[in-house]
Amino acid sequence: MTEIPDLLERRAVEQARIRRLLNSMKAEEEASLKGGDDAVAWVKEEQCIGCDQCTIVCDDDAIELYDTPLASPIMSVDVNRKARILRDPCTGCKLCVLACPTDAILMIDR
Ligand code: SF4
Ligand code: SF4
Repeated sequence: MTEIPDLLERRAVEQARIRRLLNSMKAEEEASLKGGDDAVAWVKEEQCIGCDQCTIVCDDDAIELYDTPLASPIMSVDVNRKARILRDPCTGCKLCVLACPTDAILMIDR
């Protein structure tokens, strides 16, 4: 019969396998993005849900959140925030792209 320690060991192995897979996928995504001095981040407003993840990872204070009216006429939401990139302080590091859960951020030519 399978014992609890066996299950915990199997779970740890599976967690490590999934972590390696996710890290590998992130590394591939990161390598495929343009970045550096010639690039700047850009937020697709319609895909931004205002979750604040990008501002947390940006070390250069290059992202600010602003309030905007909610587009839908069937919902009433008091706070509807969107992210905006400040071009000058953005260093093109790409961290915000990797952090955004809705793929709302692109890297574009500066
Ligand atoms: S690319 Fe880097 S510096 Fe520019 S907004 Fe994103 S996290 Fe900040
Ligand atoms: S992480 Fe993405 S969805 Fe969240 S505030 Fe930033 S741009 Fe918007």
